[in-house]
Amino acid sequence: MIKFCSLFSGSSGNALFIGTERTKILIDAGLSGKRILEALCSIGENPAELSAILISHEHVDHVRGAGIISRKQDIPIYANERTWNAMEYGLGPVKLENRVCFSTGESFEIGDICVRPFSIPHDAAEPVGYNFFAGGRRITTATDIGHMNKELLSYIEGNDLLLLESNHDVEMLKVGPYPWSLKKRIMGDHGHLSNEMAAKCIAYLAERGCRNFILGHLSHENNFPELAYQTTLNALTEKQIVVGGDVSLEVAGRDRTGRVNIL
Ligand SMILES: [Zn+2]
Ligand SMILES: [Zn+2]
Repeated sequence: MIKFCSLFSGSSGNALFIGTERTKILIDAGLSGKRILEALCSIGENPAELSAILISHEHVDHVRGAGIISRKQDIPIYANERTWNAMEYGLGPVKLENRVCFSTGESFEIGDICVRPFSIPHDAAEPVGYNFFAGGRRITTATDIGHMNKELLSYIEGNDLLLLESNHDVEMLKVGPYPWSLKKRIMGDHGHLSNEMAAKCIAYLAERGCRNFILGHLSHENNFPELAYQTTLNALTEKQIVVGGDVSLEVAGRDRTGRVNIL
């Protein structure tokens, strides 16, 4: 049994949960420690049983509460070396034994969950997505992606469940309030994945057997949950793939915990 739930997902803060009976992991901790621990309790998890926090990259919407939770629960934070260097100052003191460094591309184990971090194109020091393997299942999380490429596709293929970024609607972003430099950054090769690209990618993966999808990291200013959902729904319908029948599709909430998926 493997349990997966998006606690919070969006440009204002990210924290995901993955767990088995004996291993409980937070993926990113980009809100206050208090809010994340409360969200954990709301899905029936005991914060005292947390095993580790994995960090995808150093941006504040992914690390805000990580130092606090590590200190409070006395648990390790896992990140690659460049991410550690970039985020260390903002975390506050973290015990040496709770400072774990991994190499991108190399698998490691936390309890009975095997974790494989893989590289993603984003404007951070060394950003990663994660494959998780447990109980014969494979779950992947990949947000903050500037563009899709073949190598990245190979990491997000063949999953039982995939949380993929569907950050913005390109037209909304273009006419929205952001300054042009920020718009360029978001649309750039190391920015964020648009609804259209996420939809295209999910339709491709669904044709190759992936069955469960969660759209995540939605922009507050440049997207609506309904729009992100509809864009992917359209792409799947075009390929005669039925949502609710062939595949499941969920939008992770910015301010609320999502559905608890048990695989
Ligand atoms: Zn982010
Ligand atoms: Zn980021």
